[in-house]
Amino acid sequence: MEKPIEPAKEDCCNSGCNPCIFDIYEKQLTLYKKYLESGQSVNDNILQKNGISQLEYTAFNVVKNSPACHLHNCLIFKNVSEGSNKVRWKPGDHFLYKFNENKIACTRAYTPIEARIAQTEGDFSIIVKKYEQGLVSSHLYNLNEGDTTLWRGPYGHYELVANKFNRIIMIAQGTGIAPFKTIINAILNNEDDMTKIILFYCCKCENSILFREELYAFKSYWNFKYNIYLSSISTNNVINKYQEPINIHKLKIEYIYDLKPFVKSDQILICGSPNFNESYKTYLKSEVPEIENIVLF
Ligand SMILES: Cc1cc2nc3c(=O)[nH]c(=O)nc-3n(C[C@H](O)[C@H](O)[C@H](O)COP(=O)(O)OP(=O)(O)OC[C@H]3O[C@@H](n4cnc5c(N)ncnc54)[C@H](O)[C@@H]3O)c2cc1C
Repeated sequence: MEKPIEPAKEDCCNSGCNPCIFDIYEKQLTLYKKYLESGQSVNDNILQKNGISQLEYTAFNVVKNSPACHLHNCLIFKNVSEGSNKVRWKPGDHFLYKFNENKIACTRAYTPIEARIAQTEGDFSIIVKKYEQGLVSSHLYNLNEGDTTLWRGPYGHYELVANKFNRIIMIAQGTGIAPFKTIINAILNNEDDMTKIILFYCCKCENSILFREELYAFKSYWNFKYNIYLSSISTNNVINKYQEPINIHKLKIEYIYDLKPFVKSDQILICGSPNFNESYKTYLKSEVPEIENIVLF
């Protein structure tokens, strides 16, 4: 077992992740000290063979960068070195991307999703939303095939346990759908998992609906129900497919209250901007105190 390397200050994305990379480092340091004392390597999940590491950066090349929808690109990454291990992560995890250009070094979190898009295979892919003034998102958005990028991970606090909850209610905003897509996939692909999923997905306009086809296909599962809410008032004439649940107005909190009664076996997941997350959490906590399991991403 090798001594873990302490992350640099800029390796933290400052998003309040739990666990933070410094927590991971502390945990590894404790394991390392135990190893020095006992001479025995401690079996820990994150030490298992994985094509990406929590403790140092791994290089991945961009193999495809294509539009996913308005202001969102889908980038596929692959480790091109020979014999590299498969990249693994849990549903809901994120990776950290290292930005280092023009003497600015920093890190940002992105959510890995399966990388099998139109015959292009990679180790993982991400959906990146380009923010007008966004330092790292603009840079990622404009990467070219063959560019080399640095990533570490996976990090995350969410544990998906089949049948632990009767209902998982998801409230997503924009790219916040990314971790939910992996969680939904995992539940629906496990035929022993009877968890019912109810998704409320908030988007700006029709052009910014991510995974529209996939969500529509999930609709055929008995245990998946969803609604999309478009907030932009300029959105008219949405072309829905047969019974595609697109609503041309914002999500109202009453729609969530309609799911009452809430019980201990319900879990609520919220993923959007920090404001979005906090306001839904606050509403729900004050109006429906019986909800115990609220997880923010
Ligand atoms: C766990 C986690 C997972 C994430 N996964 C993804 C993902 O899969 N895809 C993705 O595109 N982003 C994701 N993000 C957000 C991402 O980490 C960056 O914050 C985002 O790309 C903006 O970075 P930037 O350097 O371009 O913007 P900055 O230069 O940091 O900020 C520029 C401007 O953009 C605004 N801005 C920045 N971030 C946000 C935001 N999230 N919501 C609203 N306004 C914002 C700021 O107000 C600011 O005015 C995730 C964040 C976390 C914490």
